[in-house]
Amino acid sequence: MNYCIIGASAAGINAIESIRAYDKKSNIALISDEDFSPYSRCLLSYLLAGSLTKEHLHFKPKDFLEKNRVNFQRGVKAERILYKERKVLLSDKSQIPFDKLLLATGARPKIPRIPGIEKRGVYPLRTLSDAQKIEGCIKAGLETAVVLGGGLIGMRSAYALAKRGVKVKVVVKSPHILSQAIDQPSAEIVQGYLEKRGIEVLTKTDVIEISGQERVEEVTLDNGKRIKAGLVIIGKGVVPNSELAEEVGIKIREGILIEKNLETSLKDIFAAGDVVESFDLTSGETSLNPLWPVAVEQGKLAGLSMVNKSVEYQGTVPMNSLTLFNLSLITIGLVNPFKENYSVMVYADKKKYLYRKFIFYRNRLVGTILLGEIEKAGIFSLLIRKMVDVSSLKEIFIEKEFNYAKIIPFILDNPEIFKEKEFNDTLLSLQKEFVS
Ligand SMILES: Cc1cc2nc3c(=O)[nH]c(=O)nc-3n(C[C@H](O)[C@H](O)[C@H](O)COP(=O)(O)OP(=O)(O)OC[C@H]3O[C@@H](n4cnc5c(N)ncnc54)[C@H](O)[C@@H]3O)c2cc1C
Repeated sequence: MNYCIIGASAAGINAIESIRAYDKKSNIALISDEDFSPYSRCLLSYLLAGSLTKEHLHFKPKDFLEKNRVNFQRGVKAERILYKERKVLLSDKSQIPFDKLLLATGARPKIPRIPGIEKRGVYPLRTLSDAQKIEGCIKAGLETAVVLGGGLIGMRSAYALAKRGVKVKVVVKSPHILSQAIDQPSAEIVQGYLEKRGIEVLTKTDVIEISGQERVEEVTLDNGKRIKAGLVIIGKGVVPNSELAEEVGIKIREGILIEKNLETSLKDIFAAGDVVESFDLTSGETSLNPLWPVAVEQGKLAGLSMVNKSVEYQGTVPMNSLTLFNLSLITIGLVNPFKENYSVMVYADKKKYLYRKFIFYRNRLVGTILLGEIEKAGIFSLLIRKMVDVSSLKEIFIEKEFNYAKIIPFILDNPEIFKEKEFNDTLLSLQKEFVS
């Protein structure tokens, strides 16, 4: 059997682990157009901030590929899939045969059409190579930078640069930062916190021109204002790398569409990770969920499916986390309800940078924003995943001092729902806390 995996990141690497758990002998080819051994993108901003070194980016042991006897083709692009011939054509003109193929091609940054966007010193933050270019600017004495976009990547980049002593301005088209990830009140708390630490946020405006000789020197906003910048980081979201799939006739919408066994509309071709459009358990709709844990889970399941294990992927509960200086944020599930019949409860203490929001649908917890106090996010994640009626708990969630021990009776009263090991662990840790 020949397995071929395109993309050597969260989804691709985890698929290899699943395949090798059941098939020690067959060939596995792994193709990556990045010329690096696999690394975690999630840590790139910490690398830039100077909190980690390149060595920390590896998420599997260094000998992982060797031990799993993987034929790793790095620095080459998969250019076409020849479905009938069961081959993948690579940019170096070689061909890789496959019986089962996994598309784990991820996503790439959205690059807005702005005059001057191609200038040196204008980069997204997606790859290690991007991070190295940005690092080069910092080392060359960078003083000022503009971050385009106030999403998670934009804010992570701004934080990293500020940590390195760079004066940063974040330009955000929306009325508030993190508009896809959290709501306006919590975003205002985060913004106030960042501004106290020297990161300036300009909302409801956009960059219309990037100018400079060869390198970027300044940007012009749509309100006519000009800002000096030795570096511009683009954080405008991502687009799935779905072209290979599209060319071969696989069904896609925003991303590749998959069946419950992670197979695409073409037999023996599977897909996982950021390139996939998957079912969001909390919103009840399919959407792109470009998140590391989602890619890991899908990669693992796709690998199992490729070795003919029975797999039924139900969907995703989106989860995001962000730490900026000492302020931590976790969001789980649906944070900005868009339909009727949702109810919302909030506890906020702006002075202490605390915010807890809970979103309910027919008395089920479907989402939460936890800002400032994130330690016990696990229990909310479990309640969301279980889709259980939490009407008796709602008031407890928004008490000033949130007492987790008050949830113990609820778990004990519902042993048929909370039967997995993870609930016993949660219960034990809650009981310990309660007793002490
Ligand atoms: C700076 C940063 C911070 C992040 N932080 C978080 C976080 O805190 N939490 C979180 O959940 N998520 C985070 N993410 C998102 C997370 O990294 C992605 O969800 C995850 O990497 C997706 O994994 P993947 O395997 O689907 O694809 P990717 O990681 O995108 O990897 C796909 C690989 O396939 C390669 N490829 C594509 N097409 C081809 C081709 N034709 N031939 C050969 N190779 C190809 C790509 O170059 C890439 O190397 C962050 C992302 C970034 C950039």
